[in-house]
Amino acid sequence: MTRPLFLGSEIYRGSSYGAWHPLRVPRVSTVMDFARAMGWLGPEQYRTSPRAKPHALTIWHTPDYVAALSRAEAAQEVSDETRARHALGTVANPVYPEMYRRPATAAGASLLAGELLAQGGVIHHPGGGTHHGFPDRAGGFCYLNDPVLAMLSLRRAGARRIAYVDIDAHHSDGVEHAFAGDPETLLISVHEERRWPFTGALEEDGGGNCLNLPVPRGFNDSEMAEVCARLILPAVAGFAPDAIVLQCGADAVTEDPLSRLALSNNAHWDVLRGLMALGCPRLLVLGGGGYNPWSVGRLWTGVWAVLNGHEIPERLPEGAEAVLRGLSWENPPRLGRAPAAHWFTTLRDAPRPGPVRAEVTERLAVLTARPAARGAVPE
Ligand SMILES: [Zn+2]
Repeated sequence: MTRPLFLGSEIYRGSSYGAWHPLRVPRVSTVMDFARAMGWLGPEQYRTSPRAKPHALTIWHTPDYVAALSRAEAAQEVSDETRARHALGTVANPVYPEMYRRPATAAGASLLAGELLAQGGVIHHPGGGTHHGFPDRAGGFCYLNDPVLAMLSLRRAGARRIAYVDIDAHHSDGVEHAFAGDPETLLISVHEERRWPFTGALEEDGGGNCLNLPVPRGFNDSEMAEVCARLILPAVAGFAPDAIVLQCGADAVTEDPLSRLALSNNAHWDVLRGLMALGCPRLLVLGGGGYNPWSVGRLWTGVWAVLNGHEIPERLPEGAEAVLRGLSWENPPRLGRAPAAHWFTTLRDAPRPGPVRAEVTERLAVLTARPAARGAVPE
């Protein structure tokens, strides 16, 4: 078994969707700097993400959309017609300097990941996870849907059955659009109820292969542990996939400004550990949401530590702390104006256990009664 690979790029460094957009914060560059400062990311484990060629994107996106996105970057403006048809140049998906190159780089890494995993292995691609992209339009800060492209690439490289697990605070609507009804794909999404994009209802089963679990505000570590043990792990194990794709959006932790969930970063790492223990030959871990520069950098660097079996120290060494102290949050929301001391000095949050509420157990009971929860997806 070869060591895990990290797919990164310098394109993320300094790139911003705009001064007031949630994606004005550094994310992937933090993980790269932080992991290097910890001595966890030598050149032998790092690959620079290639930028996908336009035609490579059209295995799922429409040629018209890819052309419109590329034109928008070049012109730094869009017509009313393009805005209406492709949802480009909107508040969520604004025109910004790297609006084509950055998502095309994340997509290129996802396409490459499928190829690199042909013979098996483990890859972390924190710039990926843009699960709201649609074939012909942008959505929810996502211009392209790199998880879909990764899954198509995995399949092209020989993985037949793919389990996609999404623990971002938002429902993976674009991925479900791509694979609902596909008996060779199992989709599991755990997301905050009554939150944009307002899809992913408990009843929405995609024809049998989708397990959607909306969770209430304040969703805590104990509840995620229950969801993992009763739903995620049995379903994925029963499905016996050739590849697991984990979308590890970092917006479900308490410190995130966009959601109202209350996980610590341990919750995501525990889901990851559980999936790793299933012994699937191919594992791809993507990023996703996450809008607090400290909680995102810490959560995803911890993902890399878990993938490599590194021990997470209680107190960070000086160099790693310096990376976190060097981060800035332009126009911070209230919770960012007085950063907590542990955002700089630790990688692991204190656990956030709590009661497992009836809403959660009742919804789990509905889902675990379905064949897909045993990995049995109807043809
Ligand atoms: Zn999200």
